Amino acid sequence: MNKLPALLPAATPPTWLGVMGGGQLGRMFAHAAQAMGFRVAVLEPAADCPAGQVAEQLVNAAYDDGAALTALAQQCAAVTTEFENVPAPSLAQLAQHSFVAPSAACVSIAQDRVAEKRFFVDCYAESGVMPAPHHLIATLADLDSIADHLLPGILKTVRLGYDGKGQSRVATRAEVRAAFEAGGSVPCLLEKMLPLAYEVSVLTARGEDGEAVVYPIAENVHRDGVLFTTTVPGPHVSAARALQAQDAARAMIARLGYVGVLCIEFFVLDDGSLVVNEMAPRPHNSGHYTMDACITSQFAQQVRAMARLPLGDARQHSPAVMLNLLGDVWFDAGSALAREPAWDQVLELPGACLHLYGKEQARRGRKMGHITFVAPTLAQAQAQLQAACAILGIAA
Ligand code: ATP
Ligand code: MG
Repeated sequence: MNKLPALLPAATPPTWLGVMGGGQLGRMFAHAAQAMGFRVAVLEPAADCPAGQVAEQLVNAAYDDGAALTALAQQCAAVTTEFENVPAPSLAQLAQHSFVAPSAACVSIAQDRVAEKRFFVDCYAESGVMPAPHHLIATLADLDSIADHLLPGILKTVRLGYDGKGQSRVATRAEVRAAFEAGGSVPCLLEKMLPLAYEVSVLTARGEDGEAVVYPIAENVHRDGVLFTTTVPGPHVSAARALQAQDAARAMIARLGYVGVLCIEFFVLDDGSLVVNEMAPRPHNSGHYTMDACITSQFAQQVRAMARLPLGDARQHSPAVMLNLLGDVWFDAGSALAREPAWDQVLELPGACLHLYGKEQARRGRKMGHITFVAPTLAQAQAQLQAACAILGIAA
């Protein structure tokens, strides 16, 4: 008799969990893992980093340091990543000695916009959602085949873009050429500029056993290409649209055979249609609200998935608004002099949950922390957001 292959046993505390990357997402992952009694090892080249400050162990090594990867994998029952640009071969190497979630194959799709778009198109039959019309510009010759309807558009580097970096808005072929050359002629994707009514994201998680959970849909406002606020429930999102996006997310994570936390960003266009933008193979900034407003945070979910423990309840218990705190808040708007934000006043606001990432240096545009406002009603949470913006000198 053939027996079904047994699932790997769960990793249980106090064993070690590893994370590639030492940023704030790794820090919040470490907090969640430690709260459950796991020990955390972080692999990160920088000596002082948000996750390294809290982990039991910081391995200072390059992301592709073979010896360090082997040691990390041998020490840890499971390894995950906190950033999508981790070298996929490193994840593959870790997988020789440890359980790695998400897999190198899944991460490599998310870190390449061409592969990612191809995945979205291939998944259309199940998800019912298409990505923006696009065209690969790998060399100057590809400029000749740009269809008229793709302009005006956004030129995005195929790899290594984040927070709007590596993107240029272009209206003509000449501008595409100039932006392509100014960016060093690296492969780019030209995307048609779509008329966005609003933006949403769906956070989802899947265990090795194939069970998936989907969080409530989040509505996101960006400023200068960086996430500004996330509001859940989204004020513009209808129940039908939420269901459509959640069903699409469920179809995508299943099709990927993904293990871990995956965030999928969508656009809702002026005509109400849904377009899939991109996915992040890890917890996401737009999911930070889950830490204070859901039964299981996205980081606790990441821990459960990689440890092959049952996933947690993704239900939201309070309406929430998340405000990103960029380094700008540490500078006086008028004089541009450095200042310490008035946390005492912010924390006086009912339902304000402050999260700071332990970064020494506040620089403009740098993500330093976030505040989530939870309240009995969304209107109250939004009022606390307005009050906090006034205190912190952020234009609301
Ligand atoms: P991040 O990693 O912060 O999510 P990113 O640098 O990977 O961002 P995108 O998410 O692709 O880049 O784009 C950033 C923002 O630019 C989007 O949230 C949206 O506001 C705008 N944008 C991107 N693509 C389009 C498009 N095709 N049409 C209209 N607006 C767009
Ligand atoms: Mg994005």
